[in-house]
Amino acid sequence: MRITKIEAWKHSMQLKEPYTIAYETIESTVNVFLRIETSRSVSGYGCAAPDLEVTGETAKSVLKAVADYGEPALKGADPLRIARQLSKLTKPLAAQPSALAMIDMALYDILGKTAGLPVYKLLGGFRDRMRTSITIGIMPPDATVAKAREFTKQGFKAIKIKGGLDVDEDIERIMRVRKAVGDKIEIRFDANQGYSAEDALRFIEATRGANLELIEQPTPRGEPAELGSVTRKASIPVMADESIKNLLDAFRLAKRDLVDMVNIKLMKVGGIFEALHINSVAHAANLEAMVGCMDEAALGIAGGLHFALARPNVVYADLDGHLDLIDDPTAGSVILRNGVLYPHNEPGLGCVMRE
Ligand code: MG
Repeated sequence: MRITKIEAWKHSMQLKEPYTIAYETIESTVNVFLRIETSRSVSGYGCAAPDLEVTGETAKSVLKAVADYGEPALKGADPLRIARQLSKLTKPLAAQPSALAMIDMALYDILGKTAGLPVYKLLGGFRDRMRTSITIGIMPPDATVAKAREFTKQGFKAIKIKGGLDVDEDIERIMRVRKAVGDKIEIRFDANQGYSAEDALRFIEATRGANLELIEQPTPRGEPAELGSVTRKASIPVMADESIKNLLDAFRLAKRDLVDMVNIKLMKVGGIFEALHINSVAHAANLEAMVGCMDEAALGIAGGLHFALARPNVVYADLDGHLDLIDDPTAGSVILRNGVLYPHNEPGLGCVMRE
């Protein structure tokens, strides 16, 4: 089997509602899609969600990366030798992780279709479904409570609340949401680097009564010692997100005991192949993993879900980036029922592509 054609195109999608996190407000997003065709009439699909702040990329740079490095490396190559093909791209695409993730995803899709198996089963198949959290951006306390009620009514059992701009208001929102949704809903909090260690510890202490499941990235990426000091003193698990962008980050966080958990996003780390490595490092250090996402189409979410389902160590999913998108050409690539995500039990990633 040989790769005969590679085609990438960008697609912009509006969000149903703009949302705010500690460092920006987002109203729309641009994803890049990829189709890899082969000599055996099997095609694989991938998706990139470039984000200047998180992955350092734009849609334009992703398209250029595919044209400059992806095509020359892949054309005529055997798509089933995934490690081999990715090894040619790891260096040139080191600063283009979502472009690499998109290619990685398409190759796994081809592997699954050729084997006649869903990717999560090929990779281990530990679970067949996963609860996901749904995110509430930074908004006033009343609106936060209303959103939380709306989401629990829709069947979600885990809510992730964003914060990091104002400790006191964050505390108020958490306490009020807990009161509104009752004890059975998991509540996670993400400060997106907005706190100092002192802020984080004050927040954690003041929200004890809300029984938070975890706090994500309390302190800035560039300050590992701060993160470590929160982890040592906190009464709840501390998770790294912006602090972990690659395998070396995972190794350093693990080696220095800086966190309890890691958030692995395919777009950040360069795809499923690399995510599996990072998860192994986390596992070795006794860190639990969450699979996260960006503002990405359902196809990207499917990639993350198949990875997460495969491995026992990935115990949390935060795969909601597709839910707010209008005009996602891959909508329906994962199935959501009562806050639980299911893959399509079809060969590959189960991508539904309307072109
Ligand atoms: Mg995060």
